[in-house]
Amino acid sequence: MIRYVIFLGKPGSGKGTQAQYFSRFGWIHLSTGELFRRHLQEKTVLGSKVEQFVKRGDLVPDDVTFSLVEDFLTKVEPDSRIIFDGFPRSENQAQLLEYWTEKTGALLVAAVEFFLPDDEAVRRLLNRYYCPSCGYVSNEPGLCPNDGSSLVKRTDDSEEVIRKRLADYESYAPQLRTFYRRKGKYLAVDATKKPSQISKFLESVMLRNDL
Ligand SMILES: [Zn+2]
Repeated sequence: MIRYVIFLGKPGSGKGTQAQYFSRFGWIHLSTGELFRRHLQEKTVLGSKVEQFVKRGDLVPDDVTFSLVEDFLTKVEPDSRIIFDGFPRSENQAQLLEYWTEKTGALLVAAVEFFLPDDEAVRRLLNRYYCPSCGYVSNEPGLCPNDGSSLVKRTDDSEEVIRKRLADYESYAPQLRTFYRRKGKYLAVDATKKPSQISKFLESVMLRNDL
């Protein structure tokens, strides 16, 4: 049985850091942004579908986004544990994931939202470094622990761009809160806490033996 958690949270809320942490325990970190990039790079059939919308500057429709996610899910081991990061982004996507869950008998462990005030998210994002090779994220400059590349600052992280991304998150987050609350799967975590404290809380949810 595939088990999965959904990490919800605005940019800078630290969900990527936690996903990196849990990947050490065998959880697969599924970032839809990374998935898009990979399909575009490898020029797959799905990638060319995505490209049509990106080229026109349109949003990628939910069913196309989900077809990439579903393609990924059909290729993983049947007992995989997966962290969704950046997906779903709408109630419609959540519903598509729900149909897939019912169809395959997968288990949604929880949808966890990382809460952080906007000003703190801005402060963090303005001081964020990432690895150009593997996407590793850090709050300090230095070398990537995965492959030794020099960490660089994201060039698109100007305050104006960040504020827009934060507003974008708030435009779809409420419907997801409601959706997963109704299912009894919604949890919130205070993302201003230390990463180690957040990991501890998530461990109690994600590493339970009875799942
Ligand atoms: Zn790296």
